[in-house]
Amino acid sequence: MPTKKASLAMPDTRGRFGDYGGRFVPETVNVALDELTQAFKLAKSDKEFKRRFANLLRDYVGRESPLYFAERFSAQVGAQVYLKREDLNHTGAHKINNCLGQALLAVRMGKKRIIAETGAGQHGLATATVCALFGLECVIYMGAKDVKRQAPNVRKIKFLGAKVIPVTSGAETLKDATNEAMRDWVTNIETTFYIIGSAVGPHPYPMIVREFQSVIGKEARRQMLKRLGKLPDYVVACVGGGSNAIGIMSAFLKDTALKDTSVKLIGVEAGGHGLASGKHSATLTKGKPGVLHGSYSYLLFDNEGQVILPHSISAGLDYPGVGPEHSFLHDAGRVQYRSVTDKQALKAFKTLSITEGIIPALESSHALAYLMTGEEFKSKSTKMLSAKSPVVLLCLSGRGDKDMDIVQSKLEIE
Ligand SMILES: *Cc1c(COP(=O)(O)O)cnc(C)c1O
Repeated sequence: MPTKKASLAMPDTRGRFGDYGGRFVPETVNVALDELTQAFKLAKSDKEFKRRFANLLRDYVGRESPLYFAERFSAQVGAQVYLKREDLNHTGAHKINNCLGQALLAVRMGKKRIIAETGAGQHGLATATVCALFGLECVIYMGAKDVKRQAPNVRKIKFLGAKVIPVTSGAETLKDATNEAMRDWVTNIETTFYIIGSAVGPHPYPMIVREFQSVIGKEARRQMLKRLGKLPDYVVACVGGGSNAIGIMSAFLKDTALKDTSVKLIGVEAGGHGLASGKHSATLTKGKPGVLHGSYSYLLFDNEGQVILPHSISAGLDYPGVGPEHSFLHDAGRVQYRSVTDKQALKAFKTLSITEGIIPALESSHALAYLMTGEEFKSKSTKMLSAKSPVVLLCLSGRGDKDMDIVQSKLEIE
């Protein structure tokens, strides 16, 4: 049964968020994860580490990212929509925040070799970027199919000096690349740091990723209060593994109806092409708990009980699981999880582009699309915007340059 009393702030000492998370790994990995937990704990209270991280977020990533009132888009949905502009970060998404933090940890721990897995290539790109920055050896595991599908990112990763290893086992996609990266880590654990790209994996990764992405929520909360003198009514973010969502939501988890500040939190998953039954392929809305990649969390299974990838137009959202903290927040009812289809995401992609001159990532388009479904703001069906309209803070997790080819091909089909 879900442990609703579990803290909304941190996992327990075993890395559990309620029933979820923890570690399901071989002993060699367990030792390395203990070492990482310790290094992270020390780094977190080290002024010099914090100063270095903060300076790089400012000078290298370009933080703080702006909070932008999207007025013409707001008129389309009947809510006052404020975009947290993670799309303006160096490398075009929120992923760099986490990669920078983990690479600094690697340097601190004396590790000279970095490995990572990537599906769409965005995490591979951010990892290769920080490895170039710190002069670290970098090996990126990628499913052979993804290597073909994501050629532009593969080219960039190689150009930055990293090595790309195509993985030909299984379905040749992200799940297989992750297995291969884990195998590499077990073999080279003394010298190698594994940079995980979302709020997933064995403890302490979900905690570490949340910490490095929490800058999004801290900034946005401060910006909101400064701009409006109040908190938003809603915080909305797309959920793949869940790192941009937990990054922005972490600053609002405690704003529940129990206090007088009540902020509704909504995570939007990829529902793929949306089946005729009305059911979607989204992990939290359709999956059930199980163990994958060293952690206990919600996963998607096929009829034979095999873990499957959700099918989505956005490669960055088709991770087979979701982070343990989201599983906990789902069961605790603190965050509502919804899903939208590829088609709805495409429509939102187009709408933000033509109303605001901002081309969003397809992943972020899922969050935007949820606002456009009218599910939340039904009573405002006239979509008249006023100062009384609900205030929405939405994490625009990335920019859409990388998605132009796929969007064009889909829109031509229609
Ligand atoms: C990778 C990615 C995501 C999904 O990852 P989370 O860990 O769920 O945030 C969302 N948006 C963009 C732009 C991405 O690159």
